[in-house]
Parts: sequence; structure tokens; C-alpha cells
Amino acid sequence: MILKRYLLAPGPTPVPPEVLLSMAMPVIHHRSPDFLPILDSAKRGLQWIYQTKNDVLILCSTGTGAMVAAVNNFFSPGEKVLVINGGKFGERWVKIAQAYGLEVIEIPVEWGYSVDVNRVEEELKKHSDIKGVLIQASETSTGVYHDIESVGKIVKNYEDTLFIVDSISALVAHDIKTDEWAIDVMVSGSQKGFMLPPGLAFISVSDKAWKRNEKSKTPRFYFNLKKERENLAKNQTNFTSAVSLIIGLNEALKLMQKEGLENIFRRHSILAHATREAVKEIGLKLFPKGVPSNAVTAIEAPQGIDGQVIYKTLREKHGITAAGGQDKLKGKVFRFAHLGYADKFDVIVGISALEMTLNELGYPVTFGKGVAKAEEIFSKEDKK
Ligand SMILES: *Cc1c(COP(=O)(O)O)cnc(C)c1O
Repeated sequence: MILKRYLLAPGPTPVPPEVLLSMAMPVIHHRSPDFLPILDSAKRGLQWIYQTKNDVLILCSTGTGAMVAAVNNFFSPGEKVLVINGGKFGERWVKIAQAYGLEVIEIPVEWGYSVDVNRVEEELKKHSDIKGVLIQASETSTGVYHDIESVGKIVKNYEDTLFIVDSISALVAHDIKTDEWAIDVMVSGSQKGFMLPPGLAFISVSDKAWKRNEKSKTPRFYFNLKKERENLAKNQTNFTSAVSLIIGLNEALKLMQKEGLENIFRRHSILAHATREAVKEIGLKLFPKGVPSNAVTAIEAPQGIDGQVIYKTLREKHGITAAGGQDKLKGKVFRFAHLGYADKFDVIVGISALEMTLNELGYPVTFGKGVAKAEEIFSKEDKK
């Protein structure tokens, strides 16, 4: 039998045919008049999805490049930052900050939990010289959402502290209000919620952050946000624009605008809810003890079955690329994304394959039980 491929990983995610086709057009020159309106439209679309009046700059890198830019454009070596570290990507903030000579104070959060926001206030009171608070909105490795709105309310009161959010997997899946929640710098990447291939990163910058940028002494060359800002004002990027990806970005934004912000967030919330309920119906446990992410569901492998074997069986026997566990969660969890170009039948395909996989691995399943739960939830939602 042929094996049809389904991509249900938390990045890269599937790309709609309209977007793929738009990127198949001949390459145009990034300084030509053909390109200027394309970049103009992309930058406005990004402000729309970011819910911001701030600049949203486009970088030619994956999401991590924008994380690097968020560190080396706003701080100076020796300065203190507070990192909320509750997983693989929290750890990445720590490593990047240290690589650029910052002093890192951590709030370690047990994997699977959301941060207790009072801890942020405590640390900010304890150290008056914290220059930035760095956090993930959705910690993709654990499938947990941190309460960005509440942390924003705290950090806002500290004049000299920037609020820096990695929204790489959260944006699009969650309603994140950059301006209303006082997020100074927010990073995201093309291959997660944006329905695009990997290769672009986006970063918003508030006025408070631009003021800090003037004082920041960390060395930088490629990711120079001040230069990107000057160029963006002329609908250009500092170096060669990733023209095809930006054309695709415009097409993806058009699809998103047609659906509307409210509907996009509602869709992700329903897909995540149905996934979680279906998994519980099968008898498995969700990994998050905190608030679960709407981008990705982390599921505990049942006793005696290796999560990596579940992940591999899903892929090799059923054509479903989900995700395994990272680092200390390797073997203990596996993850299904419902992010970007995802609908109810992606969830049903994933759950169905999971039931068959578990059966093959000797875990007792009643075929169709999880699928039925998902169908029930979707049918109820469709009537609303
Ligand atoms: C995927 C992801 C990243 C890393 O993005 P790359 O595109 O692989 O560089 C960082 N943070 C979070 C929360 C992610 O989900």
C-alpha cells in the first residue's frame, strides 16, 4: 500500500496549496518596484496578526534567529535578565543570553507546569537591575501555555525592564495581544502557525525597546534591527529578502484575514480541545499539569511503551509525522500539533492512527473510541 504523508508536528507544519503555488512563480528582484508593494502588504499583515502598531521586522532565519536578535539588540554584556525556564525552549533563552555575556537569573519551572506569575514579581523586586524578562508563550517541548497577559501586567510597571516573548509556536494558535499586554519584543517563525515553510522569522519591537536598542552594546551584524527598521520603512530588508517566502507569507496572511482573527483562535482552541478529550478517552494521560497549549498536545506514553516507539510507528507504518519527546522527556511523551493549516480531519486522522499504533504495540484500545469523542466535539461545535 502507498503511504500517504501527514505532517502533524509542531513545526514544520503543512502549507496550503494556494501558498505553495504563489511561491512557485519566477523569482523577482528584491530591490525592484515589483517587490515593494509585496513587502508593504506583508508588513501590514504581520501587524494585524501580531495585534500591534509596533514595527514587525522580517528576518531571513528560523525562529531561533529572532531569539538571538531579541537578545543581542536590546542588552549589553553583563546586564541581568530573568528567564522563565520551563522546557527546552526556556533553556534556549538561557543559552542565548549567556552566549552574549548576559547574567541570567532563572525561574525554573517544573516541566509540564505553567509559571506562577507571582514568582516573576518576587524576582523583579529582589533584583532591581533586571533589564528584561524572557519567556515562551507556548513551551512547545512540554505543550504548556504561560500566562503572558498576567506577566505583561507585572513587567509593565518596571520602567527599565523589557518584556520579551517567544511566541514561535503560540502565535496564530493563541490570541496574543502584543500592544494591550505590553509585550516589548515578540518573536515568531514561519513554519509554525503561519502555514509557511521554514526560513522566515518575525520580531516586533515597542518604543520602549527601541529606546533600549540605542544603549545596547552587544556585538551584532546580521541581525541588526535598527537597520532592518530603516529598510522596512522603504519596504526593503537590510540584506537580500527571501522573496519567494515573503510572497508566500502574503498569500498565507490573505487566507488568515479571510478567516478572521476570532475564527482562527476559535479553530485552534477547538482542535486542541478535541485532541485532548480524544486522548483521554483512549485512556492516556496528558502531560501538561498547567494550562495546555492550543498549538500542540503533549501526551504521556502509557506504562511500558516507549514514546519514541509510538512516534516512530506512527511515522513508519502510518505516514503520520507527529513529534517525540525532547531531552528528558524523550521516550516519556509524544506530541501532536494542531497548528496553522489544520482542521478537524487532521485531528481525526492523528487520533485514528494513534489508536491503531497503540493496538499494535499491545496497549488495549477499543477502536474508534477516541475518534468518536473527537467527532462528537466537532459535531457539537459545527452546530453552534
Ligand atoms: C520551534 C520553536 C523554536 C525554534 O524555532 P526554529 O525555527 O527551530 O529556530 C523556539 N521556540 C519555540 C517555542 C518553538 O516552538
